[in-house]
This record gives sequence, structure tokens and C-alpha cells, in this order.
Amino acid sequence: MSTTIRTTATGTGTSMAPVVPTTGALTPLGLDEVGITEGFWADRQRVNGTATLAHVEHWLEREGWIRNFDLAAAGTLPEGRRGREFADSEVYKYLEAVAWEIGRRGGDDALESRFRSVVDRVAAAQESDGYLNTRFGRPGQGARWSDLEWGHELYCLGHLFQAAVARARTSPGADDGLLGIATRAADLICEVFGADGIQSVCGHAEVEVGLAELSRVTGESRYLDLASLFVERRGHGVLQDIEWGRAYFQDDLPIRDAEALRGHAVRANYLAAGATDIAVEHGDTGLLDALRGQWDRTIARRTYLTGGQGSHHQDEAFGEDFELPSDRAYSETCAGIASIMFSWRLLLEDRDVRYADHIERVLYNVVATSPSAAGTAFFYANTLHQRTPGESSPDDEVSPRASSSERAPWFDVSCCPPNVARTLASLAAFIATTDDHGVQIHQFASATIDTVVGGEHGGRFRAELVTEYPRTGVVSLRIVEAPTQALTVSLRVPSWADDARLVVQTASGSRDEHEVPTGYADVTRAFSAGDVVELSFSIRPRVTHPDPRVDAIRGTVAIERGPEVYCVESVDLPGGDESLARVEIDEHADIEEASDGRLTIVLRTRPVVDAAWPYADGFDAPGDADPFTASIAPYHSWAERGPSTMRVWIPTTRS
Ligand SMILES: [Zn+2]
Repeated sequence: MSTTIRTTATGTGTSMAPVVPTTGALTPLGLDEVGITEGFWADRQRVNGTATLAHVEHWLEREGWIRNFDLAAAGTLPEGRRGREFADSEVYKYLEAVAWEIGRRGGDDALESRFRSVVDRVAAAQESDGYLNTRFGRPGQGARWSDLEWGHELYCLGHLFQAAVARARTSPGADDGLLGIATRAADLICEVFGADGIQSVCGHAEVEVGLAELSRVTGESRYLDLASLFVERRGHGVLQDIEWGRAYFQDDLPIRDAEALRGHAVRANYLAAGATDIAVEHGDTGLLDALRGQWDRTIARRTYLTGGQGSHHQDEAFGEDFELPSDRAYSETCAGIASIMFSWRLLLEDRDVRYADHIERVLYNVVATSPSAAGTAFFYANTLHQRTPGESSPDDEVSPRASSSERAPWFDVSCCPPNVARTLASLAAFIATTDDHGVQIHQFASATIDTVVGGEHGGRFRAELVTEYPRTGVVSLRIVEAPTQALTVSLRVPSWADDARLVVQTASGSRDEHEVPTGYADVTRAFSAGDVVELSFSIRPRVTHPDPRVDAIRGTVAIERGPEVYCVESVDLPGGDESLARVEIDEHADIEEASDGRLTIVLRTRPVVDAAWPYADGFDAPGDADPFTASIAPYHSWAERGPSTMRVWIPTTRS
């Protein structure tokens, strides 16, 4: 089977961005075209680039996961290998993060040499036919491809391919050899798993996105064809049944027949992202429609307020529709990142603002929540209700538990830290896009934009995006240089911004101001240097109610402000943990805002009686305790002040 990649588009495959489709409504911009300069995300990028990358490398060495490659090269691997079956993938995600970071900085000698030294160690472990995995295939180890359900060989290669793509796009022509390592491995699996090969798939989707992007970088259509085979094979019971059912690895239903994401939340989103890549490249409208429907249903019924996904701990999986209990929220950091991957691909294809709104929600409330302020400890699971304070994780010990109540430096299964690292390093690529008519701003951060717009007859477009978002709702796009012909600048008006106004102030002194609805606010004109497009909207606290079908939080409200979800933390309550368990809120009471982003709300503590049996008539008496004020902070900053309890959803006072 062979297909031709559509090559009509504006994307070049070499843009310095993680996802570069050859066609679609929007063209992504690379890290050489958009740079985040200051503010919320610049701070996190700085911490990521300095502290987190070094931290991840330290733990990969300490746990022996890079050394596994040395042992493979030395022939002593079976006795000495450390880590879980997917440990190789964390090394590849680290390489991907470093590649983006080098691109983001426009080069960095120290990072470059660290990158090359790890690539050399990976290269030494690759076998002559292209096979690369430290867990299988050598005397004393399981045979290659003998455990597709749990072995993660193809999953690891998917991350290798993404790392190679990042490197090829940020340092084109680099002689480190990573792209060659990736294509040799990809060529091997094209033979082994092609149309006449093993008729199965990897238990953990990921190789599909890796192959699709490797195909975009190299122009090699066989990689896309193989990704397509993997997507279409899955869902026909090709993997063995397991205790959680084949839905765990999305092998229960063909992807075209599924109505929602289900099973393991990271697997489900990685698969959907890869399937979107294939559908876009093949112009497969049936598959695209199926994926859009799955996204809609998953967002409407299977996603937490934070944008997090997955409410089952045992299998890290989606629950049923509306099964979203706060205290059992798994909401794995990687599932949030995977959801961004799926949503971003649909956004590029469709230019539908809902995808950008969701990406923002996940960025502020999952991605920003995982790393500590110092960038050296992480949440793996992201609960919305912590009932017990738990214990601090020592900063020199591996956490055996994904759902620790405090951030931990590293985990036995440590997928999340390097996933956060690669996402933050490449974040500028998610800020803005272009199309034949102009420029679109999807996420708000102070940034510089320097690109070419308007197709063949267009020209250079340079602008500065200036904002203190999310502290304020004012976003200014200052034009530095623009082509002479008219173009359209579009800024996203978030779904909750119901009073947005757009001002166009030209360098020549004219001014136009009008209200704009949510969605993309468009300004079409011939821009000149000095023109300013300013979008402004109120960022005030708002009280959010759940759909009553989310039974677990019926009768509660949450506080949001702009893109940030807030939470009540016991360390901010006079009565501490005991008080947090009993608080209730008058949802109509005023909420005061402080300049640092904290909010002051009015709470009461509901009287309770410790009884031998927790079900009786008398527990429902209305609270009569005196109201008190409490200062609350964004959810992403919780658990930074020692063990605490926390809740996002607050029971309301009954009158
Ligand atoms: Zn993870």
C-alpha cells in the first residue's frame, strides 16, 4: 500500500515546531518565529531550561536509564538493565526537550554538548538492522516484539522519532546522527509491521504521531503508511484481552466507530493525535469527523474543570460520561499534555477556537500545576480534592506512587517530568499561526513574532505581543513591520470573556473601538509599523457550577478567574485541615481580588457530629457558624507550602 502525501499547503515540514502538517486551515510557526519574552510562561520556560532539564538528566543518569544504552553497547545489558520497560522513552523525551531548548535559545554550546553525548550513547546501542530497545532482543532478554501489550518497544520508538524530528527542525543538517538513528529504526519497523508483517500494534499508542511527523520531516511516505496501518489495525482485538478490557489500549473498537475517548487516557489521546495526523495528510474526512466527535464528547462529559482527563486510578483511564469525582481525579500530567497534542492538531486543521480554549485550560491548570516553582519536583496525578495532608516527598528519593499528595522529584514511572520539559521548551510554537490571509493569536504571552504572511505575494510580518495576562485581560499586538497589502490579524477571545473590546490604534492617529464576541476577533487592514491592535476584557472572579450529572460535585461551585481555576488550601484556613473538610460557600457573596492574583472569599464551616454511623437525619442542619474570610490562590500553585489538604469544588451554603 502506498499513498501520496498532499503537498498543497503552506507548511514546509521544516518549521521549527512539533507539528507541521502539509495542509490545514492554519500553518504553525516555529521557535525561530515566535519567542516568549516575559511573564507567566517565560518564567516557566526559564526554570524549565535551567533547573528542570538538568534535574531530568541527573535522574536519568542516577536511575541508570541512560546507562542502559551503554550496557547494550557493551553486551552486558540483561544482567544490568534498570528501570521499567519504557525507560528508554524518558531518555528520548529528554533529548526532545533539549532539542527544543537549543532551538528556543538559538543555540547553546553547553546544552549542545550534553545533547550530543547522550545521542552518542543511544547510537552505540542501535543494532545493525536498526533495532533499538534496551529491554528486548538480546540473549537473556525477551524476544523482539514478543510482548506488544506491555513491552512498549514501538512506544519508545515513537518518542525517539519525535526527538529526531525536534532536532532536525531546530538544528537542520546537524551531524549528531539522531535523524539517521530514527530513520533506520523506522525502516526496520516498516518491514516488520508493514502490510505483510506482524498484524498487530503496540499496547501504548505513540509510534503513530512519531511516524507521521518523521514522514513530514523526511518526505518518506512509508512512515505515514505504517502509522495509518497501526491506527486502522487497532480496535479489532489484535492485542490480548486484559483485566480492564481491551478499551484500556483502545483495541475494543475501530477508531472510526468510537464515540468518545476511553481507556487509558494518555494512550487514548496519543492515538487520537496520531490518527488526526493521518486523517489530515490523507484528506480522510470520515476519520476526521470521527475524531472531532470523540473530542466533543470527551470534553463535554469526560474532562475535569482543570482540563485534566482520567478518573480511574487503577488503569489510569477515563471513566464513564460524567464520572468525574474530585477526590479520585487521576488527571495524569501526561494525559493533559496528550490532550493538548490532540487539540492542537485539530486546531491547525479546523481553526475552531474551542480547541485553543481547551489548550489554554490545560496549560494553566495541568501543565503549570505539575512542576514545582523550582522546577525540580512534579505532580504525576493532579487531584482536585486532597483529603489528607500526606507527607513531603524527600528530594533524593524516587516516589513509588504516582498519586502522591506532594510533588516528587522522580517516579518509578517517570513519564511526566520529561513530558512537561518538552512541552514547556516548545511552548512558543503554540502561541500563533498564519494562514494565507494573516496571523492568528491563540495563546496570550508577551512574545515577539517574526514571520512571513500572505502567501506568494505576501511579505514579512513582525510584531510584539505585550500582556500581563493572566493578571490582566489586556493584550496588545504592536506591529513592527507588515506587508503592504491588507491582511487579517485575529486574536482569540476566550469563551468566558463576555465583555471583550477591540481597539485598533493606527500609527497615523486613527482609532476604532468596538465590542467583540467570543471566538476569534478579526481585524483586516493594511497594517503599518506602529499600529496597535488591543484586545481587552475583564478578568474577574467567576463562580462556576457543574453539570448536575457530575454527581460527585453536585451542590458545589468552583472559583475561576480568567484561565485559572482556584482552590481552597488548608494552610490558608484558620481551622486547617479540619476546617477544609467542612467549608461551604455562599456563592453570592462578594469575592475580593488582590494584585498578586489571590482572591478573598467568604466561607463558613459546617457543623458536624462524629457519629458511629455516618448516615442519619441530623447531618443536614444548616451551618450557623460565623462566616470568615479566606485567601485562595490558583490551583497550579497549590502544595508549595508543605503538606496540606485542598479542594477545588466548594459545597454551597443551603439557605
Ligand atoms: Zn505521565
